[in-house]
Amino acid sequence: MTRRLLIAGNWKMNKTPSESEDFVRSILPAVDAGDEVDALILPPFTSLDRLGTILEGTPLALGAQDLHQNASGAFTGAISTQMLCACGCRYVLAGHSERRHVFGDSDDLVAAKLQAALAAGLEPILCIGERLDERRADETESVLERQLMSGLADISDPDLRRITIAYEPVWAIGTGETATPEQAQGACAFVRGWLLSAFGEEIAASTRILYGGSVKPANAQALLGEPDIDGALVGGASLAQDAFAAILKTARSLGGVT
Ligand code: PEP
Repeated sequence: MTRRLLIAGNWKMNKTPSESEDFVRSILPAVDAGDEVDALILPPFTSLDRLGTILEGTPLALGAQDLHQNASGAFTGAISTQMLCACGCRYVLAGHSERRHVFGDSDDLVAAKLQAALAAGLEPILCIGERLDERRADETESVLERQLMSGLADISDPDLRRITIAYEPVWAIGTGETATPEQAQGACAFVRGWLLSAFGEEIAASTRILYGGSVKPANAQALLGEPDIDGALVGGASLAQDAFAAILKTARSLGGVT
């Protein structure tokens, strides 16, 4: 079974609505240049509505960086799935390492957010990954297993098909330090093996597993060429139009699939 590569740009807390608009208008020709690769932008909440209008009917998908697990109510500062859907979002991140480690999102909260995203018809990207001290203590696999078990418990078969996993070692996010292709492939292969034992052959073979952590044009080819890496979640390098376009081009040059 082949899996289409997904290149996702996580802008974090960067770009105003007009800067976001300028970016997508300039990147759209590069996305349009071929449909072998799936492309996704995850801007701040304040840019979603404007980008949703611009991107409607284009091959560049829109997603959000986080969501609240409740449908509505007294949750000052939070954003519901209904709001995200109304802005044109198709994807949403759950459990990005900055949510887990800066804002304190627990495994249970991430699981609740994932369930809320699925219930709203969104396609969640479950982010998992170990800290540097955990890698040094040889705990990478046990951390990934704990995050997978917690995030994917109680998810039914049809919903599992709408989930993407992003393996993002915390020590490689925003640090300029990238996991080697072997380290990234090893962790992604472990995730696929875990999916196989938990959910069987078809889910393991069809689920997209992204790598994230200082992906840039210079290292994209080596990472995306690995057999269990089905795309990239790109932070810093997705803020520059030429760097994001170069990563898309690399994915296309690999045939767009793993
Ligand atoms: C991210 O935001 O998910 C990420 C991987 O960031 P960076 O590419 O900057 O490390």
